[in-house]
Amino acid sequence: MILYNTLGQTKQEFIPYENKKVNMYTCGPTVYHFAHIGNLRTYIMEDVLEKYLRYSGYDVTRVMNITDVGHLSSDADTGEDKMLSGAKREHKTVMEIAKFYTDAFFDDCKKLNIKTPDVVEPATNCIDDFINMVSVLLEKDYAYIAGGNVYFDTSKLDNYYVFGNFKEEDLAVGVRDSVDADENKKNKSDFVLWFTKSKFEDQELKWDSPWGIGYPGWHIECSAISIKHSGEYLDIHCGGIDNAFPHHTNEIAQSEAFLGHPWCKYWFHVLHLNDARGKMSKSKGGFLTVSLLEENGYDPLAYRMFCLQSHYRKPLTFSYDSLDNVQKAYNKLINRVANLKDGEAINEENLVPYRQSFKDAMDNDLNTSLGLTCVYDVLKANDLSDSEKRKLIEEFDYVLSLDLLNGKINSESAEISVSDDFNKEIEELIAKRNEARKSKDWATADAIRDELKAKKIVLIDTPQGVKWEFEK
Ligand code: AMP
Ligand code: ZN
Repeated sequence: MILYNTLGQTKQEFIPYENKKVNMYTCGPTVYHFAHIGNLRTYIMEDVLEKYLRYSGYDVTRVMNITDVGHLSSDADTGEDKMLSGAKREHKTVMEIAKFYTDAFFDDCKKLNIKTPDVVEPATNCIDDFINMVSVLLEKDYAYIAGGNVYFDTSKLDNYYVFGNFKEEDLAVGVRDSVDADENKKNKSDFVLWFTKSKFEDQELKWDSPWGIGYPGWHIECSAISIKHSGEYLDIHCGGIDNAFPHHTNEIAQSEAFLGHPWCKYWFHVLHLNDARGKMSKSKGGFLTVSLLEENGYDPLAYRMFCLQSHYRKPLTFSYDSLDNVQKAYNKLINRVANLKDGEAINEENLVPYRQSFKDAMDNDLNTSLGLTCVYDVLKANDLSDSEKRKLIEEFDYVLSLDLLNGKINSESAEISVSDDFNKEIEELIAKRNEARKSKDWATADAIRDELKAKKIVLIDTPQGVKWEFEK
């Protein structure tokens, strides 16, 4: 498989440290608010990556953290802890909002068919691990204490900007803005490993440490949680592109300084979902959630399909118009698959070229839109039986996860979604059934009703004649 690696900024062949075993780490959500559909674009594409690796025969172990402490309002460690501002906003405790939004996140993931990672670890469970890592970094002289906080000393590294394309001038607010500049830092790019002093005295969650009562920085979480569960050698680390700098850059700095050897081989970054105002972000407010899409009559899986239709390394702009089109296409697709007959013999040889096309698409830096086209190619194929088509679609759907074989028809938009051919076929069956009923051929009439039922269609007798709708 060829994957684009932000480390090196090239497409590279994916070769894990150990043959056929993949340790994968995903930056989890900061649980101070609902995840927006931009965050979920990242989790959908990471889910596809994980499932495609499994589909390709890799034994994947995926770890994800839950950020419930330490992520400050600016990614350069300035501003208030996002969790604390979320708690204040809702007049709740930090732990209450962490639980509420963690549950909400996994509810959304379920609706989008995003598999729960093998290990999900909240940061607040791992304080001892963070303290241990910071202690080692201090012992190895990669860190220093200033003004009560512990900082990572980036000048100790030969190459701090490992992803290459980020300049110091582009560093976040705290560094550019003299008002916010942290006087304790020896170098502009240094970052906090452990806070004991912050401008915000009312931090709710604090723990004892060798450096005083305080709380961990955000970056140390992911390094420590990853090393704790995936060991010293990580194959692939994922996140949205905004995580590349400073978060992932800092993770690499501290993990490799701690371990004394290279750490993660591949860095997989998903480009942003934008709306008319630019990048969708929780802090801007007015963002879109899965529940909002549902309230507006969309199937969450239509949103998944919307994401799969574009490449993960291209920015994607959301609009309801485009989602409308995808919802229609999704409904049609479900109808077409539902119409495939089952129970015919399967000739494995016939499946080979179609499997190969899917593999070629996905092996090429996870080309999901081409992967989706493979489903349409199977449906159109003249050299495949319906059962063979079903089998292939079932296989591809392990990765795409669009519920293609058992998808529900979205009744709100079902009518507009039905293809003319399908409509004609149903109308003809209804007419035949009417004929049979007229001539009191009850067996034929019942058989047609059953055939329609198998297509998830229910008949309704009205004064204007027999009408039909999709089963709800
Ligand atoms: P957060 O909950 O803010 O920690 O972010 C969770 C994940 O969503 C991270 O991997 C971010 O990089 C990613 N992310 C944030 N905003 C967007 C966006 N507009 N589009 C895609 N991914 C995003
Ligand atoms: Zn992270």
